[in-house]
Amino acid sequence: MVSVKKPLTEKEPGKGQASGRCDYDVLFFSAHPDDAEFGAGGTLLLLAKKFKVANIILTRGEAGTYGTPEIREKETGSAARLAGIDFEFLDFRDNFVEDNAENAHMIAHVIRKYRPRIIFAPYHTNSSSHLDGVSHPDHTATGSLVLKAARFAKFKNARLKGEAHAARRIVYFMVPRYTKPSLIIDVSQAASSLKKLWACHKSQVQNLAKGKLEERLLSSRRALGQLAGVSYAEGFLVEEPLRIDEDWLFKI
Ligand SMILES: [Zn+2]
Repeated sequence: MVSVKKPLTEKEPGKGQASGRCDYDVLFFSAHPDDAEFGAGGTLLLLAKKFKVANIILTRGEAGTYGTPEIREKETGSAARLAGIDFEFLDFRDNFVEDNAENAHMIAHVIRKYRPRIIFAPYHTNSSSHLDGVSHPDHTATGSLVLKAARFAKFKNARLKGEAHAARRIVYFMVPRYTKPSLIIDVSQAASSLKKLWACHKSQVQNLAKGKLEERLLSSRRALGQLAGVSYAEGFLVEEPLRIDEDWLFKI
């Protein structure tokens, strides 16, 4: 259910490639209720200020150690209201998100429903150990599913409801620690709001990393910021080379 809705006229959506109609500027995919906020919260906040954004969450995080599905749904709603985005839960089972054709078609249907210009998803490959929270198998499976689904959503004759839609690009968050991001977004201006956003996921923030989760999330952003000469930054992977024009050489 989309519980927070904004009029489309408020933020002009741009043109897609398949039919020309986009209903959302940005669509995030998350395996768990806190993924987008913990993984790319600063970018999400900045995007939501200018663009129409929704977050699709595959599971309710019911296998996690802290919180219940009901609590996690409420926390997700609070975070979405604070950021000013729409959200919808799908009914995947936590720890059972599987990369297969059937699930990819289910996600493709969601892409056709929301018709985003840009998609954000957890990165699809991460060989880190179980000590690295980012490498949860549901995260990587979600990334793989989204990669396939974005392709299926374009095919006019795919067995899918809705009009074909081609998102312009997939930007991956939850970059593996052993990989350099290909894109760094300066989130310094959102830094003061990040704690409020993360605090919405109280059941997690109070308990994960022995209560030091916020500190960890901020320090990773500080470290990425140092790479780019700014206070706080978030890193992303874009798999295809990015096309720029000569003016952009002076902006990046
Ligand atoms: Zn997660």
